[in-house]
Amino acid sequence: MSAPIDLEEVCWHALPSSEIAKILDVDLTGLSPSEVGRQATRFGPNALPKSPRRSPLLRFLAQFNNTLIYVLIAGALAAALLDHMIDAAVIVAVVIVNAVIGHIQEGKAEQALEAIQQMIAPKASVVRSGIRQTIPVSEIVPGDLVLIEAGDRVPADLRLLHARRLLIDEALLTGESVAAEKQEAVLPEETVLADRRNMAFSGTLVAAGQANGIAVATGPHTQIGRISELIQSVEAMVTPLLKQIDQFARRFTWFVLAGGLALFAFAVLVRGYDWIDALIAVVALAVGIVPEGLPAVITITLAIGVRRMASRNAVIRKLPAVETLGATSVICSDKTGTLTRNEMTARRIISARHTMIASGSGYIPEGHLQIAGTGDQADAMAASMPLIRCGILCNDASLRKVGEDWRVEGDPMEGALFALAMKAAVDPELERTEWERLDEIPFDAAHRFMATLCRGSDGATALLVKGAPEALFAMTSPDDIGDWERAIAEAGNEGERVLAFGAKPMPSDAERISFDDVMAGVRLLGLVGFIDPPRLEAKEAIAECRSAGIAVKMITGDHAATALAIARQLELADDPQAMTGLDIEKLSDEELERIVARISVFARTSPEHKLRIVRALQAQGQIVAMTGDGVNDAPSLKQADVGVAMGIKGTEASKEAASMVLLDDNFASIVSAVREGRTVYDNIRKVISWEIPTNGGETLAVVLAILLGFALPMSATQILWVNLILAATLGLVLAFEPTEPGVMQRRPRKRGAPLLSPFLLWRVVLVSVLFAAVTLGLFFHTLDQGRGLEVARTMVVNMFIVAEIFYLFNVRYLHMTSLTWRGALGTPAVLIAIAILLLGQALFTYAPFMNAIFGSRPLTVDDLALLVLAGAALMLLLEGEKHLMRRLGWFKELND
Ligand code: ATP
Repeated sequence: MSAPIDLEEVCWHALPSSEIAKILDVDLTGLSPSEVGRQATRFGPNALPKSPRRSPLLRFLAQFNNTLIYVLIAGALAAALLDHMIDAAVIVAVVIVNAVIGHIQEGKAEQALEAIQQMIAPKASVVRSGIRQTIPVSEIVPGDLVLIEAGDRVPADLRLLHARRLLIDEALLTGESVAAEKQEAVLPEETVLADRRNMAFSGTLVAAGQANGIAVATGPHTQIGRISELIQSVEAMVTPLLKQIDQFARRFTWFVLAGGLALFAFAVLVRGYDWIDALIAVVALAVGIVPEGLPAVITITLAIGVRRMASRNAVIRKLPAVETLGATSVICSDKTGTLTRNEMTARRIISARHTMIASGSGYIPEGHLQIAGTGDQADAMAASMPLIRCGILCNDASLRKVGEDWRVEGDPMEGALFALAMKAAVDPELERTEWERLDEIPFDAAHRFMATLCRGSDGATALLVKGAPEALFAMTSPDDIGDWERAIAEAGNEGERVLAFGAKPMPSDAERISFDDVMAGVRLLGLVGFIDPPRLEAKEAIAECRSAGIAVKMITGDHAATALAIARQLELADDPQAMTGLDIEKLSDEELERIVARISVFARTSPEHKLRIVRALQAQGQIVAMTGDGVNDAPSLKQADVGVAMGIKGTEASKEAASMVLLDDNFASIVSAVREGRTVYDNIRKVISWEIPTNGGETLAVVLAILLGFALPMSATQILWVNLILAATLGLVLAFEPTEPGVMQRRPRKRGAPLLSPFLLWRVVLVSVLFAAVTLGLFFHTLDQGRGLEVARTMVVNMFIVAEIFYLFNVRYLHMTSLTWRGALGTPAVLIAIAILLLGQALFTYAPFMNAIFGSRPLTVDDLALLVLAGAALMLLLEGEKHLMRRLGWFKELND
């Protein structure tokens, strides 16, 4: 047996399939489990080596690469040189704690993203032991019989055995932008890579058609594996919001440094402070006011949002989507499979003179066909037979019984036709062996039909076609259309999806079919109406969207009557209006923009129409989430503010273009993601509205002391302590806040609304002033009692902490009162953080060693009671303010 490396030397394109099978030591009907096992041990997984992760040490060191940290380290050095060892040690502790928190958070965020990427690991179709199945791409082994179709990424290097209208975009490998046509014939040995038309290379994109082929190289042995070792990468945690915050923090640092310098000069020159004390106090203050932890907390908030969305079956591929989702104002959704269950049952069979109704539900092939109305049952049955047969032969799907369940392999509608045949006592497998398939034109959403060329055991040859009724009408003579249209409207109005069937005799020597063959002379055999029930959860989700000010639009390839009927069942709008792709074509962009908001159903649309609809909506200032699954949906998915691909029925091409993938293809999951998106945004605002005024209050108190020339209410080490203990506790918990009630009763936030909204700015000022007032009040009160500067400062530090705790409860609900049971109980994260914080404060206040380090003093029970009272009064005041502001309606965001 040859070693794996030898396979790379084989000229697969120059060998006939029998030789290939011999070299790989497999047969061409698909591997058996034991063969798969053997190949897997021999060749390993079909994956490229991962890019090495940045080492934990490097990541840790990177945390120190920050202007502010340099200033801090310089401050610590200065303090040490001047023999202020305690100050130096505390500054170093702040730096290290910050770095550790940042490091852990970053690591967690990275891990979360990686785990999520695993959830949308690409899948491929293979035939093993004669059965078609879907497996993760990484499990493909050399010798596997692989099926590919439009929209797939080729999962391994394949030698094609059978290719139909196959076009592959090989730009990745050859740089050639025009898709290459592929076929299966043997090529000369010297053919260069770009011309190997009977090979499909791993990583390239199937633009059209379908094919099967045998995997001849996997993982690092593929062409792409040989030229590029590292094409997988973890996307960096960067979003527009994060960039904005990062930039803000950086600018703010410089502003603070300049302000600090001025304050230092003032303190020494005007107020005559000892310059070392002044320097250390100013440095401490700078550390206090700069929200250096903010980017890290926001990153973790985003990462938690991503994780929560994933647990609701919405996997984020591009991080900015987390932010945009919360602002979504229109969701454009496919119908089949997203709003409906995509569990098709053929119900109505309409032949020229009869209509029959099939009993039974789902894919269980039990039930029978009964003539509707009057007429002869046997006659009706005989008239339906050609149609049912066409449904089996122009069909790639099959049904498989797994336990008690019947499962479809392939398209659900084709699966339903398979079940229909069995109900009519036709054996689909037997039919398929008697009628050999010679050629086919695969289904494509662009032409909306599928055709096959089949030869019966008696030599009769026929072209069979099934597709959208309009597509088939174009193939038949106009007189033949007759009453069909009325039947279609009838079935459509009931929400049935209608498919038409046709046939055309072909010369007995025909081997291939082309579009020209299909375009004329087809005789209509009849219609089948399928039911595809709406998803119950989609109906609820649509109601939620409507209360959240989000419009929902259905964009479907299906017939307008069917789509409207389903839209009504789902209560998409009060009186849903429909429009077809043809109507759209008649409108200019401006005209479309004018009416797009009023239309809720777009039927018989193609991918180009989707793109125009998104653009029209965006021109109206809407933030659009758009679903897509086909190979041609990539442009509209990219254009949409949030492109949403389907995890189950979506093509790889659509998943790659999308910013979010739905694991369950369910509309309700988009709405869950929007809810989580709104929560993330709320939480980021909560983090900011807690953190900034907190820093502001501290700074204001100290700056006032320097400016007015009274004793500092906190020593430098105490300022650092407050920052340290808060950053490690309360600073983190708001990222974990659950969704506020009523989040889906608000209107979506406006495009480009600033994060630091007028309300937040107002809050920064108000809370800073209140905090400074309360702490300074207590400071002077304690001094007045003659208990000395140390006790007064200990009161100030504890007052800050108590005020922060109360304020946290206030901030947890920005849109409603916090004075509820739910508000009072907090979350585990909140309670744990408070417990640690209180423990830290108890040590700070009562432990002799802490008293020595920080110059703090034990407080009496009365002192503690006073602190809590003051904190509670602050909270009540701020609750009153929240209520008043909502009543006054000054800040629109509170009332939306
Ligand atoms: P949605 O866009 O909501 O998912 P859809 O699945 O109906 O709707 P397409 O897959 O583009 O959209 O199908 C468009 C039309 O093409 C269908 O309404 C049907 O008439 C026809 N069609 C769909 N699948 C097949 C198929 N496998 N063979 C033949 N015709 C098909």
